Amino acid sequence: MRESKEKSPESNGKENIYGFSLQDLQVVCQQPYQAKQIYNWLYTRYEKDFENMSNLPKEFRKTLHELYSVDNLKLIAQEESSDGTKKYLFQTRDGHTFESVCIKMRDKKLDENGKIIEGEKYTFCISSQIGCKVGCAFCFTAKGGFVRDLSCGEIVEQVVNLKKLNDLPAEKRVNIVYMGMGEPLNNFDNLIKAIKILSNLDGLSISPKRQTISTSGISPRIHDLGKQNLGVQLAISLHAVDDALRSKLIPMNKTYNIKSIIDAVRAFPIDTRKRVMFEYLVIKDINDDISSAKKLLSLLNGIKAKVNLILFNPHSGAKFERPEMEKVRMFADFLTSRGLLTTIRESKGIDISAACGQLREKKCPRKKQFKRISSRSVSR
Ligand code: SAH
Ligand code: SF4
Repeated sequence: MRESKEKSPESNGKENIYGFSLQDLQVVCQQPYQAKQIYNWLYTRYEKDFENMSNLPKEFRKTLHELYSVDNLKLIAQEESSDGTKKYLFQTRDGHTFESVCIKMRDKKLDENGKIIEGEKYTFCISSQIGCKVGCAFCFTAKGGFVRDLSCGEIVEQVVNLKKLNDLPAEKRVNIVYMGMGEPLNNFDNLIKAIKILSNLDGLSISPKRQTISTSGISPRIHDLGKQNLGVQLAISLHAVDDALRSKLIPMNKTYNIKSIIDAVRAFPIDTRKRVMFEYLVIKDINDDISSAKKLLSLLNGIKAKVNLILFNPHSGAKFERPEMEKVRMFADFLTSRGLLTTIRESKGIDISAACGQLREKKCPRKKQFKRISSRSVSR
């Protein structure tokens, strides 16, 4: 076995095993089938200790333990909302913290006899960075500034940990939305690699169709993402229909304005059965009027779009207010009546500050590197 070139900065000299594609692992394993065995342990059994990977030779397990780390995120806290949403606070090896959210919703499906079966649908809201550089005026994450990108391995490990913590078997499908902390397209390479690892059929097998990237609109990166042709879903945080207001809400709009974003979306390859989601944060007396809805309609003309209206979620120090539901409904009805698919997003987990824009790095009293590799770091 030889060491791979890719060093991850966050893992105390060892490499984070979750940052390895199957091909990367095949390169470092003497026998290619061993890479599949490791993938099986990591992604089907959520194993957190190389020693327990019993079908690998003992010596090989020792080498794996010496070179690679399998538990890079330590669960520091978890909270459960009255609506079942769970928020997890993870600590990285270099002592930073970030949050991930698991949203559970009721789901109904028809079986082969046409009978309704009730089940549960899980959506994981995954962070891509600790903090964010974009600095949107309405977002709590932005208030903490930018700390660092999450590595590819840390992005993948969040998903594994959320499946394990929620006792979800490997075959249980989940959806991923990159709507946690950070701007995913500002961590482009790590994000792309993570999406590929997460979708690997020998691993978690989460189809790119079930992975949604939400972006504040970095137009050149939207073009780059389109060129990757991964089949991921795109969500644009639009929030305003004219550049003056949008630049106040999202300062980066001065560089990448609304037109550049719409042009990038028009060039983006969209699955024929899918639509690009436009997220519109409705803020009281700022952008909740019908004339904004009219402009939104003409802006999205000719795009296979759906609009998701998000009610502003308050947080400490916020200078904006939550809009009246009546106004949001009128806004939605206007768009729907003109044929634009529009939904109002339910704010899940608002009572535990797990809703959109409420996540932030927490200062822990013990903000130091955790040295011991604990196999129980994600156990309840
Ligand atoms: N950085 C990416 C993804 C993370 S933010 C983005 O901006 O798209 C996920 C979503 O939460 C975005 O649509 C963002 O605009 C929204 N959001 C941020 N702050 C919010 C708040 N206070 N209330 C409601 N939604 C908010
Ligand atoms: Fe960053 Fe998104 Fe928050 Fe804006 S809304 S500061 S892009 S995380």
